[in-house]
Amino acid sequence: MPTDNQRPSIAIVGMGPRGLGALEALATQLGNTDLVFDVDIFDPVKHLGAGPNFCPDESKLCLLNIPTREISVEPPAFPGAQVCQFLDWPSLSGNPDTFPPRAILGEYFEARYRDLDRNAKALCLSQRPERVTDIQNENDGWWIETGRQRFGPYHEVLLTQGQPATKPDEQLGRWTDHVQNNAGELSAAYPGTTLLKTAQNWAGKNIAIRGLGLSTLDVLRILTCGLGGRFEDGRYLRSGSEPAKILPFSLDGHAPVPKPANAKLDTMFDPTKDETKSFDAALMKATTQSRETAIMTVSEALVAPAARILKEMGNPLKEGDVRNWLTMEREAPGSQETQSPTEALRTGIAMADGDLPPSIGFVVGQLWRKWQNALRSGFNSAQISPETAKALVTFDEGLKRYSYGPPVRSAKELIMLIDAEVVDLCAADDPSIRLIEEGWQLVDANREITVSVMIDAVMPSPALDTTADPLIEKLMAKGNISAVCDGLGARAKADGQLIGQNDNTPSGICMLGRLSLGSVIAADSIHDCFGAATKRWADGVIIRVDRTQLQSCDVLDESAL
Ligand SMILES: Cc1cc2nc3c(=O)[nH]c(=O)nc-3n(C[C@H](O)[C@H](O)[C@H](O)COP(=O)(O)OP(=O)(O)OC[C@H]3O[C@@H](n4cnc5c(N)ncnc54)[C@H](O)[C@@H]3O)c2cc1C
Repeated sequence: MPTDNQRPSIAIVGMGPRGLGALEALATQLGNTDLVFDVDIFDPVKHLGAGPNFCPDESKLCLLNIPTREISVEPPAFPGAQVCQFLDWPSLSGNPDTFPPRAILGEYFEARYRDLDRNAKALCLSQRPERVTDIQNENDGWWIETGRQRFGPYHEVLLTQGQPATKPDEQLGRWTDHVQNNAGELSAAYPGTTLLKTAQNWAGKNIAIRGLGLSTLDVLRILTCGLGGRFEDGRYLRSGSEPAKILPFSLDGHAPVPKPANAKLDTMFDPTKDETKSFDAALMKATTQSRETAIMTVSEALVAPAARILKEMGNPLKEGDVRNWLTMEREAPGSQETQSPTEALRTGIAMADGDLPPSIGFVVGQLWRKWQNALRSGFNSAQISPETAKALVTFDEGLKRYSYGPPVRSAKELIMLIDAEVVDLCAADDPSIRLIEEGWQLVDANREITVSVMIDAVMPSPALDTTADPLIEKLMAKGNISAVCDGLGARAKADGQLIGQNDNTPSGICMLGRLSLGSVIAADSIHDCFGAATKRWADGVIIRVDRTQLQSCDVLDESAL
């Protein structure tokens, strides 16, 4: 441990929104004590607090997937905090139904970080703009290594790295090799500003996008409005600088379904208090059950509320239909969507606008969205078997096509791009892909389309075995980190303490966020970054550090005798 007379010291690796949320929770909890912590923050990003996904310099065409009215990131409560509510942030438009650019939320997070730096009396922050490559546990505490220097010792280390680099999957690996010796160009979706610069040379080309999720909607805005095109009177007007055709595709060909268009429509999907209580109880039970039973228990809690909402909104389907839908969904998520990608998009828009009674999937998805906090609070603090955890995570991920839906405006713009023949969904549903000299050939049932640019808009998996991050690789090799099970993230306790191989908990190294998926659920949300997990972590650190300091005092007292 650090020397007896040293102040408590911690290192935080990664200062995106989750590192910020953790630090704010620590400052708030320390407000009840007379402790002062030295905190070293390791992150090479320019805008601390915002991280790469909410970078204030990011293109304003990259939008949040939640409307302003639903952004619930309460300012911190530490003594001396001065930052305003996000709703009062100057660059935000007044309309609560709009989905603001992520960069605006990033500006706000950066301001919150500065507020902490200036006003949190219990924290003494130092910025270390470096990437951490290794962490060592020695007799005197934790040591951090960057490419150039060694820092420490620390009482505690927190890893909030978001989604660090992963090994390319088999397909991406093949394409990376392919573009070395051929004419095709392979590009990442982000940063949007880099994509926009590269896209200046793509006028008239055919372009494919791997992935048909929220990132693809950002990419489409960049390749159209970013290049001078505009939407006007329900039509897309080309600028002439955009690609000839854009061909997004995915494993099932379906775009995410937009959320209800406004607050009034959205409240129609609210669960009642009793329904939420039943969901909480079902989830608690499910966390102790085997994988099959757990998923049945949780999905049964959706049946009555979904049937009630369907009835209230003019869809005559009954509880039995909902139950059957959920059975199929559990077995093969998304397999019941039988419309073509474009038809499904139009149906989704009509349901989001309230022009068509919602389908079972739409209702279940909105309920699931509204229960995300309840899901986190029931799952994240429970002891769950790896199989059950995996089943619940898979169910949650499957419903994301509804629960993480885009603004209806984005879905309508996609339709306008299809009508203007800029976007073509003809090969959207898992096409065969040939590698050719000019780039790629997408092969669907009756067409072959050559594209010279491929954009990767697929979010990599948080599975530990796919990591290419040197720090995570080293911690795994040393046994400090172990996976919940294949395909999931790190094992961690409810307060973030990592559980290593041999079930040991190396005291003082914690992880929060996506990389511990399976120990936590529904981590890909800004709300989770400021949720209960950060308070649990802060409480744990304070207790452990306090205990160590008391022990040091005991030793001092004894040696004084
Ligand atoms: C493209 C995209 C769009 C999203 N949009 C939304 C949205 O609209 N709404 C929503 O609720 N959620 C959204 N999310 C989910 C989003 O990831 C989280 O809400 C949030 O960004 C996660 O914050 P984080 O701090 O955990 O990770 P990040 O924001 O990724 O921050 C991690 C930080 O760790 C640093 N780091 C990593 N490794 C090291 C190392 N070895 N040494 C030092 N520093 C390191 C990185 O530089 C980075 O700054 C989006 C995610 C992505 C990828």
